[in-house]
Amino acid sequence: MVSWRDWLHDAARQLGAAGIEDASAEGRFLFTGVLGLSRSQVIADPDRKLDEASLAAVNKALERRVSRVPLSQILGATPFWTLELLVTPDVLSPRADTETIVEAALNDVDTARPVRILDIATGSGAIALALLTEMQSATAVATDISRAALDIAAINAGRTGLSERIELVCTSWADGIAGRFDLVVSNPPYIASSIIETLEPEVRDHEPRLALDGGPDGLAPYRHLFSEARRLLAPGGTGVFEIGYDQREAVLRLAQEAGARDADCVKDLGGRSRAIVFAFS
Ligand code: GLN
Repeated sequence: MVSWRDWLHDAARQLGAAGIEDASAEGRFLFTGVLGLSRSQVIADPDRKLDEASLAAVNKALERRVSRVPLSQILGATPFWTLELLVTPDVLSPRADTETIVEAALNDVDTARPVRILDIATGSGAIALALLTEMQSATAVATDISRAALDIAAINAGRTGLSERIELVCTSWADGIAGRFDLVVSNPPYIASSIIETLEPEVRDHEPRLALDGGPDGLAPYRHLFSEARRLLAPGGTGVFEIGYDQREAVLRLAQEAGARDADCVKDLGGRSRAIVFAFS
């Protein structure tokens, strides 16, 4: 019989050999995630033996991780803000960096008001749902061109108890969306097409291309998004878009060309530019 310790030891070796950094930590995440254990349970009882069903389950997960399937897709969930969100290959796994967009948006609105939020290209629904949990009277419209992604966003809205306050619309960017919004947010695809092949296998081979590919220079979505924000932001409203760490200058220029004012960039916890915040009136 295989002990917990033996399994973790072998998993770290296999994950390391597959080129995964922090192989020991990843092995433990897989183990605890699949078996529903806490880290302290695992640390407290290393000699415990794995029963057959558990062994099969963790081995299957390990095999997938060795083939570089993202941890979030193997476990089917990832933490984002204060939420635990369903993740499948149909959506970009919410990144910790994207919490920068949530924070920047919350900074700029009166959270007690009935704020109207538009989240363009919502994917898993992460940004809109995180904002809704922080604003009890807010409502959101969240769009995506992928119906499969919207199905995941709908499940996430249900799981977080927010279905009543979010409307999910299958459309390209904000086509057909009317009305005025106090917040227009988006984490668009912004990676230059030619760079995608150089990304780590988890992203390149397992995440939706649609959520990553920002065209030849990675900036195509912003040209569109700024003009939609101009059309849809209410007077005094705020726009917040995620940007790539090296896109600050280019996106600020696009914002200016679109007639935005007070455009500024906000850094993520790693100190890289991660969001542009702007207004139109
Ligand atoms: N930050 C993501 C990555 O580097 C890309 C997200 C995006 O294009 N919106 O994998």
